[in-house]
Amino acid sequence: MVPSYFSSATQQNENNLIVILGHGQLARMMYLEASQLGLNIIAVNANTKECVNPVDKSILNITLDEAFEHAAVITSEFEHLPLDLLKKAELSGKFLPNEKAIQAGADRIVEKRLLDSVNVRHCQNVVISNVEDFDRAQNELGPRIILKTSRDGYDGYGQWRIFSEQDLVDVKAQLKEHNFEKMPLVAERCINFERELSLIGVTDKNGNHKFYPLTENHHADGQLVLSIAPAPKVTLELEQLAQNIYKKISEKLDYCGVLAIEFFQVGDELIVNEIAPRVHNSGHWTQQGSVTSQFENHIRAVAGYPLGETQVTASVAMINYVGHGKPKADLFTVPNTHLHWYDKQVRPKRKMGHINVTGATPEQMLARVNTVKNFLPDALAKNLAPIIDI
Ligand code: ATP
Ligand code: MG
Repeated sequence: MVPSYFSSATQQNENNLIVILGHGQLARMMYLEASQLGLNIIAVNANTKECVNPVDKSILNITLDEAFEHAAVITSEFEHLPLDLLKKAELSGKFLPNEKAIQAGADRIVEKRLLDSVNVRHCQNVVISNVEDFDRAQNELGPRIILKTSRDGYDGYGQWRIFSEQDLVDVKAQLKEHNFEKMPLVAERCINFERELSLIGVTDKNGNHKFYPLTENHHADGQLVLSIAPAPKVTLELEQLAQNIYKKISEKLDYCGVLAIEFFQVGDELIVNEIAPRVHNSGHWTQQGSVTSQFENHIRAVAGYPLGETQVTASVAMINYVGHGKPKADLFTVPNTHLHWYDKQVRPKRKMGHINVTGATPEQMLARVNTVKNFLPDALAKNLAPIIDI
């Protein structure tokens, strides 16, 4: 018998329950789509292992074991999961995508090994397991290095730029107490890219893929500020190159669900920055700019449903709303502007929500983004200004 938390319709059919590991905005947005499909979602606070409602975060009267037992499928909203929770999910035999894919997204060393194994180009790097490795990194990678923790990095946290001898001295001093054995670092050559792109794709249980068009991404302080889709000036060859890389990775991982790949574009080449085995911030535009959102498609994939169409319905921009309280409703005076608010406590650098702005043409969409800028806190508007120079 399914616990009484569920609607009576659901109680008649256990196959309606999907458990999501993680209870942040990604779980929330998957929940909103899943409920439209008549599916129930329970989110799991990965730290406390409590089952929660992903919208209001209330704690549910059901244990993790019960939720796993009744779930048709278990999936995840992020890769930085405690190992015991990940193992438990994998052992249930219900977890999609799978432990291997989550580990590749969670650990940059595992990720780079995966990319090597499928012959996909990524940033030249040196694993830093002790202080002496810094000299080797400088010899092999040249004078401009991005140093990253091998695990637990997101939104540019756990990164250092080493562009001068003084930077190196400072970083070494900062890392004096660092336990390299517990948390190795990865030094990457700093790529002088033309732009950043990402590919959001989705793979069903039978290995069929669907792709959204490449998205152009702009960052400030290592954090995504703005995505534009479809990315302008993309050739068919570039789109196919990205999709071939996706297929290689997805097939190697026996993947199911939405998978995101972040790229650096250098000329006609794509260098993989990192992969994310989940719905991705640079795919939030699909809520207003595509026939089926990435959230619905992830749910469809793991539930074993046919995938939804991924055609684009508009030119779209996604603006991350970071570190400030909710904007005034005046924002909605700008046509085709949609706010997605996550209802979190404000903290500096914290993603609080995002704004999707669409237009019939890229020019119309950019003109609207320019107007939206006037309704944003100064710090956010300042980040956008140099990107949308119209
Ligand atoms: P997120 O979770 O937002 O994707 P993250 O913390 O996992 O971020 P990365 O994606 O590795 O970190 O890096 C964040 C940003 O820093 C990149 O999008 C890019 O702008 C810059 N960056 C990272 N690595 C490099 C590199 N090797 N060369 C040049 N720029 C880089
Ligand atoms: Mg990234």
